[in-house]
Amino acid sequence: MTDGEMHEILRCDEPARAHLVAGFLDSHGIPAEVVGDQNFWADGSMVPKDMRPTVRVPAEYAEQATGLLAELEANRRLGEPWTCPRCEDFVPPAFVECPVCGALRPPRRSDA
Ligand SMILES: [Zn+2]
Repeated sequence: MTDGEMHEILRCDEPARAHLVAGFLDSHGIPAEVVGDQNFWADGSMVPKDMRPTVRVPAEYAEQATGLLAELEANRRLGEPWTCPRCEDFVPPAFVECPVCGALRPPRRSDA
């Protein structure tokens, strides 16, 4: 194991978003990590921008991760959460496949 350099690829306003993105990258075989997700003041207000939750990936994955993020953003604009046709789990719109069983998202009615 080498302790490779980590690249920051996304800074989020909220920890949940950072974890969603990291989980998405992870599902594509990219070992993403979230740092700074504890950085919230007790009263719930935002910490300074440079302390907000950040998603990082090893340098060698940075390019791939950036491409996936663009895809994720496009998907996010598309949508609504969907229900997995196989395991009936509730899946966030950013996912193109079920994070539980791996089934692909069915075509949307609006795609027709
Ligand atoms: Zn499923």
